[in-house]
Formats: sequence, structure tokens, C-alpha cells
Amino acid sequence: MPVPVSQMWTVSTYVLRQKLAGRKQYPLVLMLEPLFRCNLACAGCGKIQYPAHILKKDLSPEECFRAVDECGAPMVSIPGGEPLMHPQIGEIVEGLVARKKYIYLCTNALLLKEKIGLFKPSKYLTFSVHLDGQREEHDLAVCREGGYDIAVDAVREALRRGFRVTTNTTLFDGANPKSVRAFFDEMMELGVEGMMLSPGYSYDKAPDQKHFLGRARTRRMFRAILSNRKKEWQFNLSPLFLEFLMGKKTYPCTPWGMPTYNVFGWQKPCYLLQDGYAETFAELLATTEWSKYGTESGNPACANCMVHSGYEASAVHATFNSLGGFLATVKGTLLSRYRDDEALRMLEEPVVAVHPLVQIAATSETLQETRV
Ligand code: SF4
Repeated sequence: MPVPVSQMWTVSTYVLRQKLAGRKQYPLVLMLEPLFRCNLACAGCGKIQYPAHILKKDLSPEECFRAVDECGAPMVSIPGGEPLMHPQIGEIVEGLVARKKYIYLCTNALLLKEKIGLFKPSKYLTFSVHLDGQREEHDLAVCREGGYDIAVDAVREALRRGFRVTTNTTLFDGANPKSVRAFFDEMMELGVEGMMLSPGYSYDKAPDQKHFLGRARTRRMFRAILSNRKKEWQFNLSPLFLEFLMGKKTYPCTPWGMPTYNVFGWQKPCYLLQDGYAETFAELLATTEWSKYGTESGNPACANCMVHSGYEASAVHATFNSLGGFLATVKGTLLSRYRDDEALRMLEEPVVAVHPLVQIAATSETLQETRV
């Protein structure tokens, strides 16, 4: 089981309470970015390109707690930047554990062994270690030779000390499905609790604008990777979100499901886009023109997006929206290995490493792909 029963219970009862209250827009995971600084400079990242005076800023623990209390989501993901570079990260995590929030501290793990003494093992705390594939693929993605070995060593140490550990992996164009599947084997052998996946998103600030996936290629790649699954693989994601990535389901984006709070305030409308900021979560919900976002909206910035922060909450919503959704989730979790002979054949196709690829908010030619 990739997630403890207590966490599943907390999240399920929370969602059911929202439904009984008739709430259509409710947060599931708060994306809390306490800083943008990082000790890596990954080619696909849009967070570290801010000017120095912004990169120097930190959210205080009190600002973090206020946002968490105001939002009310049962889970808090702490990305960044690199959260372990925050001078008060231990205090922030301790305060969130005291609030019984399930925390995913997203880290590249370069500092994890050095800082691990700041934390106590808890069912509420998971280190979500950023690993973008096997050694060569990961080091290339994070532009740091040796990054994989440091991260894997830190994962071992965290597991040895009794912490919950997952991986989070962003896949870009040119990812080799066979290698990704071998990476899953490596991670499960390492002993992580589960794995998270997302296709990359074309941040306009990211230095590499060539290797982001369009929707049709995203579906094809995830079909090759996630069909014919090994029973050992555990994913720390909704099975319906994985089916969405494989092209078996379609969902609208629900960006309020994973709202973002950072040094600028509550970001409109989502983790990826910056169409302004609100001072409070209530203001974010009330003043964002939600109909302008999501694939169906026709907004070119959303056209090729299938990222976790936009669509996993949609998949969770689908689980609780009907008996069919619930049964599909149970089947996806416990029973289905997604047998697919065509997907097996796709694993043997040569991987084309470089495309002049889809840029979001790009030309009509690139948007063609979305309609495939
Ligand atoms: S589709 Fe993607 S970019 Fe658009 S609002 Fe949703 S998460 Fe944000």
C-alpha cells in the first residue's frame, strides 16, 4: 500500500465532507513555496530565474502557518526552490506536523543528509525526493553530475532513520520509456514508499524550451511506461490520474485543488501560471476567473498542460463523484496491470531524443498536437 491507511482515511473523509457541504471548489493539497532559491539550476525549471532580491526572500514560519490554516487542505506539498535551504525549515515542518497535515517535503536531496537531524520521523512527514530517472537521465535533467548518487545515498539514510520517502519524477520529451521502467524497479528495490510522476510544463522562464511534452506525446509516452505494470511498482498518485496520463480518461483542470502560496501571496490561477496574486485564499477563490483556464478554455497557456498540480485533484474528485469512479479507483489500485500489447511494442521503438517541441502559448502549428 503506497499511502498509510490513516492518510487515506483523512483525505477520503475530508473530500466527502466537502461534497456533503456542497463545495464545488476545495483545496486538496496546498503547494507551499517558502522560497525560490535552489542549489541546482535545472534546465526545465521556471522557479529559479527570479532576480536576486526575490531569490533572497523566505516565507516566515508564521506566514506558512497562516496560509496552511486559511487554506485547510489536508496535505501540504513544500516545493520551492529547495526547501532544505530555508533557514527555518525544521520549524515550519514541526508546526505543520503539530497541525496534523500530511507533508510532502520536495527536495533534490543534495542537503538531506546534512539537514536530516532537523526532522523527526512521523507519519505526517514524507521526503519526496526529486529523481528524474536513472543515473544518466537524472544527472542530465538536473544539470549536475553525481546528483543521482547523492540523492540515492540520502534516500537510503532517510529510510534507515525511519522516515517516509517517495520519489517525484518529471518526464520531458525524449524520455526513454524502457529506462523509466527500469528506474521504477530501482526505486522499489531501494525501498521507497511510492513514486510520483508528472509530465514537464513549459515554463516561460525555463532555460530549456525545447523538451516539453505536448498532450498527444504525453499520452503516448505514459501509455508505453505505465501499461503492463509490474505488481511491485507503487505510485503515490491517484490511479485515475495515471489513467489520465495514459489517455484512458479525460478530466478538466481543477487548479483550485492544488493552490499555491509563495513569497508573492496566493498565485492565480495555479502552480504554473502567474496571472496575479491574492492576499487571502478566500480572495483567490473569489477573484480568479477560473473559466479562463484549463484545456477546454482555449487558453493557449493551458493547451498542452497535463501536470499533476492541475489534474490530480480532478482525478481524486472523480473517485468520489460516482460509484463508477470509486470502483475504477479500486480496480486501478488493486487489480489492473493495464495489459496492452501495443504498448509493449512501443517500448521497442527507437527514442527520438530531441524535438523542436511544443511551447505553451506558442503557434497554431504546435497547438495542432493538442487536438490529436
Ligand atoms: S491547465 Fe495547467 S497551466 Fe492551465 S490552469 Fe490548469 S494547471 Fe495551470
